[in-house]
Amino acid sequence: MPQPVVIAILMGLLGAVVGSFLAAVSVRLPREEGVVFGRSRCMSCERTLAPAHLVPVLSWIWLKGKCGWCRAAISPRYILIELAASAIGVWAALAGGDWVFVAATALLGWQLLLIAIIDAENFWLPDILTWPLAVTGLIAAAALGQAIPWAQIIGAVGGFGSLWLLAWAYKRMRGRDGLGGGDPFLFGAAGAWVGWMGLPSVLLWACAAGFAIVVARLIVRRAVSGSDRLPFGTLLAVGIWLTWLYGPIGV
Ligand SMILES: [Zn+2]
Repeated sequence: MPQPVVIAILMGLLGAVVGSFLAAVSVRLPREEGVVFGRSRCMSCERTLAPAHLVPVLSWIWLKGKCGWCRAAISPRYILIELAASAIGVWAALAGGDWVFVAATALLGWQLLLIAIIDAENFWLPDILTWPLAVTGLIAAAALGQAIPWAQIIGAVGGFGSLWLLAWAYKRMRGRDGLGGGDPFLFGAAGAWVGWMGLPSVLLWACAAGFAIVVARLIVRRAVSGSDRLPFGTLLAVGIWLTWLYGPIGV
């Protein structure tokens, strides 16, 4: 087999394993349960899962989406997250570049997937996820050959500062919060990955994704009210991913 295909398969398998970890974290983090320690257990019978029940994707297919002990149905969110993380691994492998770029791209994608899920389900962007995203962005820029990644450092500071100012001005004028408290940190982390020149395209992609969701909702439900909040962090995550892969729009 040609080497790129082998790398894509390996990254897909690794992604499925990472995805099963992300799925567990996305459930445990909002409930403030121990994230890393503590074995996975069935939500229904509470029994600790056996190692064979933890094999990503395959165990779900083999057990037909049911608990191996009590046969209670398991939410499809687990296999969907495993498949999404697997797809991110394959996408990163096929995006080209050397192994440092592939590793950085997968690391970015998996972090964004977790952030997008938690914000979509809880409207919450935990600092414990956005700050490491910013740090890994600067490390990736250095590893990819920039002695001092100035564009990314300026992007991190500028991204955080611009949304923080916007939130502050909105609150002064309207007397209520227009943005979530975690949004400036995520936009700062965006700058750490795509540099200051990538920030406008992150916003453009986020707006396009939000517009697509509103249109999809209109088609499905035929009614959208002003209180139907969209998870801004999830939209930003889409924007960061596409800008990282395909570069700033118009450049
Ligand atoms: Zn069970």
